[in-house]
Amino acid sequence: MFIDSHLHLDFDEFAPDRAAIMARAAAAGVEAYVTIGIRVRDSARVIAVAEAYDNVFCTVGTLPHFADEERNVTAEEIVALTTHPKVVGIGEAGLDRVFGDASWPAQQAVFAAHIVAAQQTQLPLVIHSVREDEAMAQMLRASSATTPFPFVIHAFSGGPLLAEAALELGGYFGFGGLLTYPGNDLQREIAAGLPDDRLLLETDSPSLAPAPLQDERNEPANIRITAELLARLRGSDVESLAAQCSANTRRLFPKAFAARSP
Ligand SMILES: [Zn+2]
Repeated sequence: MFIDSHLHLDFDEFAPDRAAIMARAAAAGVEAYVTIGIRVRDSARVIAVAEAYDNVFCTVGTLPHFADEERNVTAEEIVALTTHPKVVGIGEAGLDRVFGDASWPAQQAVFAAHIVAAQQTQLPLVIHSVREDEAMAQMLRASSATTPFPFVIHAFSGGPLLAEAALELGGYFGFGGLLTYPGNDLQREIAAGLPDDRLLLETDSPSLAPAPLQDERNEPANIRITAELLARLRGSDVESLAAQCSANTRRLFPKAFAARSP
């Protein structure tokens, strides 16, 4: 019933027990995964995990943290990687001067290359945006005015300005452990009010374990904790919410799910 729309199954943290983690996730109702790349030039890693499992798909991209080391990544290079059948999206890419220390011009240039790749392929762009609501909204509006493209703002941590821009442009919102943290009343308020057809569930495993597990390694089985909170916020039940979010994920990632949906 769940699709984990954003996690990092290829990370070393999962190397010792990936099969056990996926078995626990399956028992919790997770039926498919989109595992997310963080370095274009390391895409072989994330592609290898997707190749190993029928229900795992992947994306290719450069997290803003690595924008200096992949400063000259090109849209052509990203587009070429998307010809692989298991590569179903682009990213994660975006803007973040809180957790990353890459230079601002490099962050903007690398993110711009990912936008062009999303425009050319029309594959969804998985966006990482931390406290850059204005700059992000401005880049999304300007690029979408030329050629619209599908996107999700993952682990949504923005405010109304970014939420409004994303809604207007047809964007999706990914919610995971962050939504459960005590300080995030604003995001809970935004999540409660978004249209049903723009919500995705994710875990960002192994990071961002939902409360009260914040100090532990996150894993996809924990998606249920966030789903229960999001359902409660929206006056729904976890089964309907999960079904809605899975339908949304299938719509956003047609290359992964269009031909495979029941
Ligand atoms: Zn991530």
